[in-house]
Amino acid sequence: MTDQPVELAEDSSVYKALLESTRAIPWKIDWKTMQFAYIGPQIEPLLGWTPESWISVEDWATRMHPEDQAWVVNFCVSQSESGVDHEADYRALHKDGHYVWIRDVVHVVRDEQGEVQALVGFMFDISERKKTEHELAALQQQLEEYSFKDGLTGVANRRMFDSLMEETWNHALRHRHPVSVILLDIDNFKQYNDLHGHLQGDECLKQIATLLESAAKRAKDFVARFGGEEFVIILPESDEEAARKVAERCQQLLFKAQIPHGSPEAGQRVTVSMGIGTVIPTREQTINDFLSLVDERLYQAKNTGRNRIVAA
Ligand code: GH3
Ligand code: MG
Ligand code: MG
Repeated sequence: MTDQPVELAEDSSVYKALLESTRAIPWKIDWKTMQFAYIGPQIEPLLGWTPESWISVEDWATRMHPEDQAWVVNFCVSQSESGVDHEADYRALHKDGHYVWIRDVVHVVRDEQGEVQALVGFMFDISERKKTEHELAALQQQLEEYSFKDGLTGVANRRMFDSLMEETWNHALRHRHPVSVILLDIDNFKQYNDLHGHLQGDECLKQIATLLESAAKRAKDFVARFGGEEFVIILPESDEEAARKVAERCQQLLFKAQIPHGSPEAGQRVTVSMGIGTVIPTREQTINDFLSLVDERLYQAKNTGRNRIVAA
């Protein structure tokens, strides 16, 4: 047992066997000549290039994705010159033309005077890890999207409305622009659900959301689900007349859609009630004050017979 380290140190074939039995690929570059002194035979199954074809650092640099080449080479050279161990992830070119994600971990070997003698390192195949990373990033993006979107109708959700309303309000405050808001509630929707079922109710909500988006068609206009069967439309830089036009367009599109309601009290088809408000924000006013005012008008529209628009 005690003399084993000596045996190991003397028998470099043991080291070689060990190095060549790992999944990581060992290599060594002579710093003066910039030539490969060694590269493990595992390189061939991974990248297709034979160990003999790795002659100089040029071979390493050119067998790399063009987008990674400049920063990886610059980074590795500068780190090596400063004698700092380092690692880099990059896409290595396979002989057949595709790329393989590699993590290269580099140790700088220096002599007693501190001069760089050689670089030794291991290349790790990290393609599986990268694939997972990409999948996670895509999932993350999707989650972010979901957190701003109403899951049922695909329009913005309440959270998104709150933040965009604030942004629009502050912008209007600075530039003294008017902002208009339309608050919209489906008439007798409870009854609609009772008559046609909740799933059909969901379909109706989707249809109305799509319709609202086509009514508020300027790039800055913004439709959100306010909650339940209520929607809200933000119309930045729009006066009351413009808002009224959008509201009327909503009504017309809904009329054209002729969604049967089925209840005699509700009329023949699905209708909506709307409250409209227009404001040039001031520092004395809050968004909530303004929205309450618009909500009162919506309430008025309900109380005076539904299927109507109430403005100032
Ligand atoms: P009003 O004309 O006064 O607005 O009457 P209403 O029946 O529309 O109003 P109420 O607030 O009594 O009912 C709203 C209904 O909207 C009740 C609820 O089940 C339905 N609702 C809310 N969210 C959804 C949803 O996501 N899907 C479906 N299918 N129905 C919903
Ligand atoms: Mg309601
Ligand atoms: Mg309703």
